[in-house]
Amino acid sequence: MFGTAVRGGIRMAVFRRIAPVVIVASTALLGGGMAAIAQNVKTQDMDRSVKPGDDFYRYANRSWLKTVAVPASRPNYGTSAMLIEKTSERVRSLIREAAAGHAGKGTAAQKVGDYYASFLDEKDIEAKGFAPLADELIASSTITNRATLSAYLGGTLNSEADGLTANGDHIFGVWANQGFEDAEHCIFHLLQGGLGLPARDDYLDPSAKMAGLRAQYQAHIAAMLKLAGIADSESKAAAILALEIRIAQAHAPDADAADVFKQNNPWKRADFEVKAPGMDWNSYFTAAGIAKQEAFIVWQPSAVTGTAALVGSESIESWKDYLRFHLIEHYASVLPKAVRAEEFAFHGAILSGMPSAPDRSQEAVAATNGALGQAVGQLYAERYFPPEAKVRAQAMVNDLITAYRSRIVSLTWMSPSTKEKALAKLAALRIGVGYPDRWIDYSTFDVEPGDAFGNMRRAEAFNRSRNLAKLRQAADPDEWRIDAQSVGAIIMFSPNAEFFSAGILQPPYFDYQGDDASNYGSAGAGMAHEISHSFDELGNIYDARGRLGNWWTDDDLANYHAAAAKLVAQFEGYCPFADVCVNGKRVLNENIADLAGLLVAHDAYVLSLKGKPDAVIGGLSGEERFFLAFAQRWRKAQDEAALRRQITTDTHPPGEYRSDTVRNVEAWYKAFEVAPGDKLYLKPEDRVAIW
Ligand SMILES: [Zn+2]
Repeated sequence: MFGTAVRGGIRMAVFRRIAPVVIVASTALLGGGMAAIAQNVKTQDMDRSVKPGDDFYRYANRSWLKTVAVPASRPNYGTSAMLIEKTSERVRSLIREAAAGHAGKGTAAQKVGDYYASFLDEKDIEAKGFAPLADELIASSTITNRATLSAYLGGTLNSEADGLTANGDHIFGVWANQGFEDAEHCIFHLLQGGLGLPARDDYLDPSAKMAGLRAQYQAHIAAMLKLAGIADSESKAAAILALEIRIAQAHAPDADAADVFKQNNPWKRADFEVKAPGMDWNSYFTAAGIAKQEAFIVWQPSAVTGTAALVGSESIESWKDYLRFHLIEHYASVLPKAVRAEEFAFHGAILSGMPSAPDRSQEAVAATNGALGQAVGQLYAERYFPPEAKVRAQAMVNDLITAYRSRIVSLTWMSPSTKEKALAKLAALRIGVGYPDRWIDYSTFDVEPGDAFGNMRRAEAFNRSRNLAKLRQAADPDEWRIDAQSVGAIIMFSPNAEFFSAGILQPPYFDYQGDDASNYGSAGAGMAHEISHSFDELGNIYDARGRLGNWWTDDDLANYHAAAAKLVAQFEGYCPFADVCVNGKRVLNENIADLAGLLVAHDAYVLSLKGKPDAVIGGLSGEERFFLAFAQRWRKAQDEAALRRQITTDTHPPGEYRSDTVRNVEAWYKAFEVAPGDKLYLKPEDRVAIW
């Protein structure tokens, strides 16, 4: 709700999340020594007085580190933040241009422009007051018994959930995706939801701090009801919170929610009456428009059973009040100012710690991206990611895959039968770059000028019917699950696919007019890192078609951990403060991926040369540019508190040590003449290669 305009970072579905990706800073390109070839390495940011073998990170970055200022509002600053800012600004301009251009009705530009302009039309929103919500409020007031309650709940089934959504403001969410055992068809994944506070424990934690938060939430519920003119708001708020606490009790604990094997619970339609009495499931599924759906995967059975029981046991009046409150909350962004202010006071200030509400135009950009993500993405790609960029990125991906294939073939820790499965999975892996080959067809989504509320409602109806329609179609592994204008990537373990957006494939991370050495060292190493996750301890429970099932043997796992022990020790030697060293086990999985990414990207770079010698650009050889681009992509300015916090909480080590991954690569020693006695020097037998 109060997120950034362009969602950033790497996401993994199903089911784990990882922290946002770190990418290289600044967009300035240097003219190279060779005619028109640009390169991404910023030589002015280096410090050549540092010996590369002693401190490669500062050799590559010290001039930048000396001058960069961390904005007061942030704990750290690096390329990721910079690219998100820059891309948000571009997206905002594109959307504003669309709004000013008054394009022909039905075009992408018209929809984008009118969605944005109507969201910004606060005068119109104010004048309409609660009127746009009237029919929905009437619908909720016609609930008189379990059947009508169940029908109402089914009619508002939230179809915008995905494998990463922990909670929505409807009691259940649906995600249409292939099955955990069936890669052919889209199946109805049913997810828990219905809580207004972010986490289950916020309701159940008995500490004074959490009791205080619940009291603030209850006051917020009362305030929202009052603004909508609903009587007895105080007592209703208490009853609504009590109902949510009961829903939270039925939710799966967070630990279970992170275990995909616990989510794989196939239910047939007839199971619902037996396993989850209380709800009138016939009314529910009929109203949801899926009366004929037979196959379901119920991610958190306790939540379905528990919430259905509450439909049977709680008073109809409490349910109606709960639904009215969440209705107002759901549409708060397109309701009058007083509602939005109350919404921010709780969700923005109290829950997210934001000092002030975002600018309305920023919210309008975010809302437009949310409703018409691929329409905005199409405008973005047309301007910033031409077809030649896609061709160039695809060529790099092909080299990465070829390199990774050879590495798998020569692994010593992986058994031959597992190698076969890994190679089959690699061959089946779909990788999308930049933007989708087929855009979403928004022709049935009507966007009207001056109707912010109606547009939001129609956007949701459009997404919902699009998602439910998938249940009748074959699963599509090439479906993009991230917008082109996002600065990020997504790994879909199920299906077996990864997508790297145009927003992340931009300079200095990737320059389609730039040189291969810096592109492969920067974006290439990043992409190979993500590719390796599909084969490591995150991806080894999904097969070539994204079906659930561990394809490693116990011996593979034991050998892998034995091979990784040296890497754990290597990182435990990094101590930025006398009392703090990196926890080698916590960051192991990411370090293995960084190392795989670097090695694979280097092999791929060599492949890209096709036997030709590498060119010197700006006084740097290709090998030098490759490793410098790698070291520059990890740079980050952060204060001591942020660095300490990262070491104790993050599964990624600080950027400096990620950059020091180069110590394990033979070619780096050659490129920078690193020798025994240099601080980063490792004896050949101490260098690690796992992939
Ligand atoms: Zn990773």
